[in-house]
Amino acid sequence: MGYSAREALRWLRDGNARFAAGEPRDRYTAAERAASVAGQRPWAVVVGCSDSRVPVEAIFDAGVGELFVVRTAGHVLTEASYASVRFAVEKLGTRLIVVLGHEDCGAVSAALAGNAPAWLEPITGAIDVTGVTPSAAPPDADDPLLAAAVDAHVRDTARALRAWLEDIDLAAGGPLVTGAAYKLASGEVHWLD
Ligand SMILES: [Zn+2]
Repeated sequence: MGYSAREALRWLRDGNARFAAGEPRDRYTAAERAASVAGQRPWAVVVGCSDSRVPVEAIFDAGVGELFVVRTAGHVLTEASYASVRFAVEKLGTRLIVVLGHEDCGAVSAALAGNAPAWLEPITGAIDVTGVTPSAAPPDADDPLLAAAVDAHVRDTARALRAWLEDIDLAAGGPLVTGAAYKLASGEVHWLD
């Protein structure tokens, strides 16, 4: 089996602290690759945005075989996303699922603006910004409305994943679904309830 959700959450927090401090471990070594040949036991699933400024493994200072990553623009969930997450939980024993939003997310911004081209509809149409108001925004964000929309979309995505996984026996130690948002300049991940 895999690792507990509590352990995995601590490793993500510690890894992000190393990344933000500019003190990552020596990753992607020959030894790490060789150890991965026998199989994978990822200790966390990260459902993140495709944005090139949000490199998931780097942000958490994780190496080969450690994170099971599902990325779409705006971390919008597709049928394949759900199946991918469930594969990690059911077949690989992963017990922690993190939805990782980020500052200045173009997909969420497009949903807020409401003027995206039709071909982007599978992304923007899946992001609910109807409940987002400026008063709900974090006070320190550069664009409070967008930051509030990102946080709301992270929480919505986490709720959808919890519902998708609710038939899995929680007494067996998970899975835990939680949300977070990434700050581009500082490299810090802020954890959401
Ligand atoms: Zn994004």
